[in-house]
Amino acid sequence: MDTSNRTYVKDAFHMKASSSSKDDEKKGEVELYGWVHDTRDLSKIRFIVLRDISGRIQVCGVKGETEEDIFELMKTIPRESVVRIKGHLKESKQAPGGKEVSPIEIEVIAKAEHPLPIDVSDHSKTELPKRLDYRFLDLHRERAQAIFKVQDTILQAYREFMNKEGAFEAIFPSIIGASSEGGTEVYPVKYFEKTALLSQSCQLYKQMLACSMEKVFAVFTVWRAEKHNTTRHLNESRQYDFEMAFADDKIVMDVLARCVQHIVKKVIEKNSKELEMYEIKLKVPGVKYLTFHEVASIMKKEKIHVGKDDLSPESERKLGELYPDTIVFVYDWPLSGKPFYIMPSDKKGPNGEQLSNGFDAIYMGMEISSGGQRIHIPELLIERFKAKKMKVENFKDYIDSFRYGAPMHAGWGMGVERITMLLLGLPNIREAVLFPRDRDRLTP
Ligand code: ATP
Ligand code: MG
Repeated sequence: MDTSNRTYVKDAFHMKASSSSKDDEKKGEVELYGWVHDTRDLSKIRFIVLRDISGRIQVCGVKGETEEDIFELMKTIPRESVVRIKGHLKESKQAPGGKEVSPIEIEVIAKAEHPLPIDVSDHSKTELPKRLDYRFLDLHRERAQAIFKVQDTILQAYREFMNKEGAFEAIFPSIIGASSEGGTEVYPVKYFEKTALLSQSCQLYKQMLACSMEKVFAVFTVWRAEKHNTTRHLNESRQYDFEMAFADDKIVMDVLARCVQHIVKKVIEKNSKELEMYEIKLKVPGVKYLTFHEVASIMKKEKIHVGKDDLSPESERKLGELYPDTIVFVYDWPLSGKPFYIMPSDKKGPNGEQLSNGFDAIYMGMEISSGGQRIHIPELLIERFKAKKMKVENFKDYIDSFRYGAPMHAGWGMGVERITMLLLGLPNIREAVLFPRDRDRLTP
């Protein structure tokens, strides 16, 4: 099939229609490829709405005017079939966008079987699990596509921002020898004679790299064998990671704030159509800094439970309510609530508890990122492993990496699907992954 003369729908709307006297436009002839979005048969007039990734256009056949066999074919093509339609572009006051196509050739490239297993209309009546079972077909829906168009903007904006910051993009291993986060559950993998693990984060690697290349970032897939089934957790998710040498928590919180602001700015610029589809009015967020203790006091007044060393989902939600359109950084976090690699602070909390240089960032009522200054002193690291009852010998390479000239450093990780979900106001994080992996789902 020679598709070299293809016109995208979006471009067709910018072309001159057939009525034009300009002969060099081939009298407004277009060759479109796409899916049959909808059909309508008014007996003397037949419509096909053709959809490609760039938009939709109406194709209009008229009895007596359109060639007989094409007019007949128009009523037989099932919805979502793939077609090639060649025709003349015409001005039309009634047609959406002011233009339509009079067909001169229609070819059915791939006929869709019917009935379709899910409702593919914009506001699909099919429930999410069933839509995910048929995700490949669900992605025919512009509303599903919109999510991944926005996710693409977020990804490009992240890379663009990091490039401007002078950070190097890195690629890290996903099969590891020991848990990189301690707490969270891991997936074992048979690795020849040994048991390896699927990575829960690129934490240890990005630190080792920052200690030579200073500023690094990654888009990294993580696996967490958490059994809980929530609307904001996945068992396979992706993170935007950042790590920087000669920096503490304050410096990298500022980088994160500017990064998220840049991402939101780009989404506003590039995705007005998608935001409108989801009825979202986005604002570039401001920034607020609160200590963990300040948050605990606010929540006490609001009668909302905060954990001893972690924020409850309700308290995150409340922060979103109290500080709309704001990235809320919660810092001076109790050391006991942070992983082994977070630097202890020289400050103590009001109840004498040891604080840390770790933080969380809460945006739109949910944690989007955790980060902090890391421990770059081997003896202190060993002490922390022991305090967390972790096996020091499992981390020999990691600890040794700080013995031969390692600067202080700090960084963060931000959930890709989390930020997508929040910016579009999606009720379930599974909507923001092409092919989600959760406790019950390994396919498609
Ligand atoms: P949470 O407290 O929300 O469960 P976490 O503190 O366990 O997250 P981190 O290890 O701090 O997660 O991961 C960094 C970021 O990655 C989080 O702030 C969040 O945006 C995202 N994230 C973490 N776990 C998941 C998950 N299971 N599914 C999707 N995104 C996640
Ligand atoms: Mg966290």
